[in-house]
Amino acid sequence: MEAIKSTDSEIFGLIRREEQRQCDKIRLIASENYVSAAVLQATGTILTNKYSEGYAGKRYYEGQQIIDQIECLAIERARALFGAEHVNVQPYSGSPANMAVYLAFLNPGDTILGMALPHGGHLTHGAKVSISGKYFQAESYELNRETGLIDYDAIREKALSCRPKMVIAGHSAYPRHIDFARFRAIADECGALLMIDMAHFAGLVAGGVHPSPIPFADVVTTTTHKSLRGPRGAMILCKEQFGEAIDKAVFPGLQGGPHNHTTAAMAVAFKEADSEEFRNYARQVVENGRTLAETLHSNGFDLITGGTDNHLLLVDLTSKNIGGKPAAKALDQAGIVVNYNAIPFDPRKPGNPSGIRLGTAAVTSRGFGEREMTQVGEWINAVVSDPENQSLLADIAENVADYCRDYPPPGINV
Ligand SMILES: *Cc1c(COP(=O)(O)O)cnc(C)c1O
Repeated sequence: MEAIKSTDSEIFGLIRREEQRQCDKIRLIASENYVSAAVLQATGTILTNKYSEGYAGKRYYEGQQIIDQIECLAIERARALFGAEHVNVQPYSGSPANMAVYLAFLNPGDTILGMALPHGGHLTHGAKVSISGKYFQAESYELNRETGLIDYDAIREKALSCRPKMVIAGHSAYPRHIDFARFRAIADECGALLMIDMAHFAGLVAGGVHPSPIPFADVVTTTTHKSLRGPRGAMILCKEQFGEAIDKAVFPGLQGGPHNHTTAAMAVAFKEADSEEFRNYARQVVENGRTLAETLHSNGFDLITGGTDNHLLLVDLTSKNIGGKPAAKALDQAGIVVNYNAIPFDPRKPGNPSGIRLGTAAVTSRGFGEREMTQVGEWINAVVSDPENQSLLADIAENVADYCRDYPPPGINV
């Protein structure tokens, strides 16, 4: 970082402080991770200098001798990793990837059916504040009030009555596996396309510890930076028959030139993910989720659905007499970083909902196992039980930072 340091000491200083924060805190935000040094290096290369609108062999500018090979490698590795027929690695991030899918298959005003935002769906699945809810007739399904689980019969009924052109499965806050075959059957029965957004759990699919949506979906979208532990970016995986429509929608439909430095980092991440080491990582992510769930449960916390099958937990704090927001703020002061989150049928306002969301992808990357997750659960309990005790929060923050020193995260030398 010598060049940044001499050119811009302000940004240099801020990056260093963020590095320190990422080392000293227990990061439980379910969408975050630590990428490897190799992925980081790829994102910081001269590949950012090159424009390459188009696709390998069909570009609009010359000089693509190397870039074409990089993009082809990323595509081949993604296809092998997920068993997909066609892959587009150019979407800038998860949201534009979803927009590209809509552009490929829908017209403004068409009906889409996705999981409601306050029930764990993503903004881009038809939320009213999102372009997906403004340009399309967005219908949504909710979770079962008693179990917190996806209610497939209710989705089927809704689909048969609103007749969507596309059904969307996938989530940002659902702690259980999804029955992809059920979604396929529902889509088929009402003649809809099925898009599955695996942004959150793609790393678990790659690691073989989560069912794969690939055999069931017409189109799968995913970010590459969550549990998959790659650079910030996204891709679209689909059946061969839809490949051309998807490619046209991404470019020239929605985007200009691809971010080649990101494409290279994706290729590196996919290589890393195709390994025994990554499969062990994915297994540990799920184990750690279970251990954290058990620890919280034994301390009287209510978990939506009672536990987790994946990397994330949704905790209902109602019985603890604290809102999600003050709990998240107190936890952050104690060195444990989470986000406040709505729970299904949340009686409270979205700005201070009833829950917090916890994820195990990042801490597992720094080597946390079952023993460590038990400790994390005990700390969370201590904070939530006495959230206004400033000296307690400061003590825990110090203990957390000490504790974290034994678990240096990938990609950072502080
Ligand atoms: C994170 C997420 C996205 C969006 O990704 P961005 O890269 O933040 O645009 C899309 N869908 C789901 C389900 C997500 O969890």
